[in-house]
Amino acid sequence: MTAPFDLTVIRYATNPRRRRIDHLYQLPPGDPHDAPMPIDFFVWIARNDKRTVLIDSGADAAICAARGHDFLRCPTEGLKAVGIDPGDVTDVITTHLHWDHAGNFDKFPNARFHLQEGEMAYATGRYMRYGQLGHSYHVEDVVGMVRLNFKGRVEMCSGSVEIAPGIVLHPAPGHSAGLQVARVHTRRGWVVLASDATHFYENLATNRPFPTALHVGQMLDAYRIVEKLAPSPRHIVPGHDPHVMREYPPPRADLEGIAVRLDLEPNAPAPAFGGSA
Ligand SMILES: [Zn+2]
Repeated sequence: MTAPFDLTVIRYATNPRRRRIDHLYQLPPGDPHDAPMPIDFFVWIARNDKRTVLIDSGADAAICAARGHDFLRCPTEGLKAVGIDPGDVTDVITTHLHWDHAGNFDKFPNARFHLQEGEMAYATGRYMRYGQLGHSYHVEDVVGMVRLNFKGRVEMCSGSVEIAPGIVLHPAPGHSAGLQVARVHTRRGWVVLASDATHFYENLATNRPFPTALHVGQMLDAYRIVEKLAPSPRHIVPGHDPHVMREYPPPRADLEGIAVRLDLEPNAPAPAFGGSA
């Protein structure tokens, strides 16, 4: 067995102005729809002695600004802060092609990219004419992935695939047609990076999907997929939840708020949701 992966999440953008109604589908009567519910934007990096694998490549300052979010740092600056040269990234897993997960391709010149075939088909297919679905994509990212593919740098998969010993990808569609989650073997066991299969702990715990949805039923099924893949609820890492930054230890004290280690045990409990799960 190869060495387990070190696994770190890097926060590259945030939006403290978002409300519950922005993030939770069909809130029940009595829910404080207008209460604050900040959102964070992340990339994840897994490294062992053989590979350096980036899970999602994030967005840049201009795109974050255009979409009304607060850009904090280029994902590559976050990588450098945790001691990783972007040129050393061997693989990029693109969980899906939404704007906040699939930019900055040119900053990883030595990486091959891993994408579900169904996501490529969806992002270049018939539904992109509809603003409700196409809006989540930045067309230059989609075209960028097409260009990478023409250069032979995309491993397009269809279904579950082990891209390296200790990293397995699993389709979990619904939010988009070809969303995949990554299961990473770490020193505390298999950690499931859910990406947007569940944006927040609360989506999963209350069966209330994020409102950006291609197929709500599949999103609910995706929660079951994520639960099944994880050895415990504490091994599920949601894609946009600011709680994650408070639960896990930073790699160094000066990186607090910038990065935390997901391969180490959390030092705070996950948020609870009043028995509504
Ligand atoms: Zn996202």
